[in-house]
Amino acid sequence: MSDDLVLDLLERARYFAGITGIGVPREVMANPPRKAAPQALGAAAVARGGLDSSRLAPETLAAVREDLGDCRRCKLAAGRHSIVFGQGDPNAALMFVGEAPGADEDEQGLAFVGKAGQLLTKIIEAIGLTRDQVFIANVIKCRPPQNRNPEPDEIEACQPFLERQIAAIQPQVLVGLGKFGGHWLLKTAEPISKIRGRLGEYHGIKVMPTYHPAYLLRNPGAKKEVWEDMKVVRALLGG
Ligand code: URA
Repeated sequence: MSDDLVLDLLERARYFAGITGIGVPREVMANPPRKAAPQALGAAAVARGGLDSSRLAPETLAAVREDLGDCRRCKLAAGRHSIVFGQGDPNAALMFVGEAPGADEDEQGLAFVGKAGQLLTKIIEAIGLTRDQVFIANVIKCRPPQNRNPEPDEIEACQPFLERQIAAIQPQVLVGLGKFGGHWLLKTAEPISKIRGRLGEYHGIKVMPTYHPAYLLRNPGAKKEVWEDMKVVRALLGG
């Protein structure tokens, strides 16, 4: 057996032996991988080939937010309480793209702060990062009524803003959470069960599609696949 295979088996055994109630490996929580300085990761994204420089918009996240304003570009404006722009490090090496704000997010104006968000926090911490070190956004920025799926016209209206957010942040790796995050980033309609774990690209940036934390709350057995995907993300970030 090769050394790599032995190490991988050992890591899996340790993971399953040490998993916590919410699926976060104690081992990883105790020894988080080190992250390169955020400034270096953000500013050097183009130099390291993380982003196709022809796509770079000469604007900041703050300018994107300002342009979004009190957005009324789609029908969701009528029923929303807040625009959930997304939050985190504007120079993050790692960016998550989810589906849409839910009730808690709409109430607080922040992405992923409900139950699914708490699990996302654990997933982020499992690879040695904090929420403040990554950027978290959604395909659409306003809550759909009764948490229904985003509709094509709503996704289209929000699209330029997510594109500009990614261009401003210049992450090294994007994680697409669930069907909507994965489909938006990879421009595919393949089921998330098929695409998860398969590394793709968004304008030169590596994309890891994985299961949505809300799906993991309903299907905790799928946490092990997300952990496999996040180990790849950690390796891509140099951890
Ligand atoms: N689910 C999402 O996709 N995004 C959020 O912000 C919260 C829950």
